[in-house]
Amino acid sequence: MKKYINMSWSKRERDPSNIGLPHFRNPFSFHLLLAQSDDVLYKWLEDNRFIASQIFCEVCKRPCKAIKKVGRRGGRIWRCRGTVRWPHEKSYSGHSFSLFEGTHFDVREILIFLREWILGSTLHRCAVESGMDYKNSAVDWANFLRDHCRKFVHDLYYELGEKLRGEVEIDESLFGRRTKYHRGDPRGLKIWIFGMVERSTNRIVLYPVERRDENTLLPLIERHVEKGSTIYSDGWRAYYRLNEIGYRHFTVEHSDTFVQKYRDTTTGEATTVHTNTIEGAWKSGKDHFRRMNGCKASTFESHLCEVIWRNRNAASKRPLIPAFMDLIRDHYHLRGKPNLCMKVPLFDTWHADKKDKLMREELTGDTPVRIDSPPRASPPLSPRDVPGPSGIHPQAASSVPSSPSIPTVKRVLSPSSSIASPFRATSPSYGRSKKGKGKKKRKSDTVTGTLHHPPGFVPIDKKGKAKLQKDKSVNVYDRQNFVADWGSDDDDFQ
Ligand SMILES: [Zn+2]
Repeated sequence: MKKYINMSWSKRERDPSNIGLPHFRNPFSFHLLLAQSDDVLYKWLEDNRFIASQIFCEVCKRPCKAIKKVGRRGGRIWRCRGTVRWPHEKSYSGHSFSLFEGTHFDVREILIFLREWILGSTLHRCAVESGMDYKNSAVDWANFLRDHCRKFVHDLYYELGEKLRGEVEIDESLFGRRTKYHRGDPRGLKIWIFGMVERSTNRIVLYPVERRDENTLLPLIERHVEKGSTIYSDGWRAYYRLNEIGYRHFTVEHSDTFVQKYRDTTTGEATTVHTNTIEGAWKSGKDHFRRMNGCKASTFESHLCEVIWRNRNAASKRPLIPAFMDLIRDHYHLRGKPNLCMKVPLFDTWHADKKDKLMREELTGDTPVRIDSPPRASPPLSPRDVPGPSGIHPQAASSVPSSPSIPTVKRVLSPSSSIASPFRATSPSYGRSKKGKGKKKRKSDTVTGTLHHPPGFVPIDKKGKAKLQKDKSVNVYDRQNFVADWGSDDDDFQ
């Protein structure tokens, strides 16, 4: 089968009985099918397994009898009279158990909506083309179609057990509105998304996460990435143990560079490490939310599933319309209720219920996603995320070293912390009046770590020389160092 049927008038399919799902891409073939009489169209739907050609009674499981044609629905009324021992009367419409069950729209209108939605039109466009009401019916139908994406992701993550392998990039990114330079309204839904992408195929795995710590992220990596694979990431400390648990893990420190080279000390071969593939995935994911001006928390999950489905479909290089129609036909087996799992929470790392706020992506999001992303230490802004022994007041806890097991990590206090640095202006307007200073502070807020790599590798610089790693945990300009170096007898320097 060709990847898609040419969309021109001359390449249209002239015989309605030959029109298949790949022909839907050609608008002339598609509308030729819609222009057929109800009988022909319903026959086509039956042949293509969108509506049942035989209805089975839900009560006694026996095949029903078609009793009469119903004009407007085009289909039939099916009736079961039960058995001799247990007579009953039950009727079904021709739409029963199908995608079209319970709708007052004509199947043609729904097919138009489906086609537009699958091809990635905006909801407004889908509504206008199909003649649906934008605010109500179109929203409902789009939600309903995204439920198929949810089911797809559910099967993909929890039933099929497929794993990424080879070279895998991992990263996290904040979805939702960001304030730039501490201006504007910082409220609204913000969600951290953890992502993994297989470089050779571009397949992604996404999870919304409440926390970005080791306990959350490592199980996800183990669930979705085959042991022995090579993982590339930035220097986020939750990944530090990856080399110990069976992966080949390389890091690139984004505060330094975006491409880091390593040399194998035994073979002398150089390996280049970057995370550009996943940065591209963030771009396409955020574009989805930007196009529709954000979404509610309750629908965020299904939108994320749509992003995943579209990514997986692009990775498998299948034409869009047949791929989604197959998804529908998988879920509607036409012998009973569809096989969908709408109410099951999909991601065990995130809860949508408590924050039904509106998520907005900035429309002017032309800046590179990663460079502009907030500093790594920003989660401590919420007291919940501050690490430290429980029972300590959050503000007091923020002075506790972040993690005793990783001494190289230094957490610098975030601007909102109540513990004032002696060198920082604590006036709330500092971002406005002292722009330059505000910017500098942001940079120093990042959590920095050393480069991680499997044993037998050394990081090298661009010229191929071994890179000396600075111990970033020691700040030579720290006030304490000065006090210690200058000696205690200098009373003026306190
Ligand atoms: Zn029956």
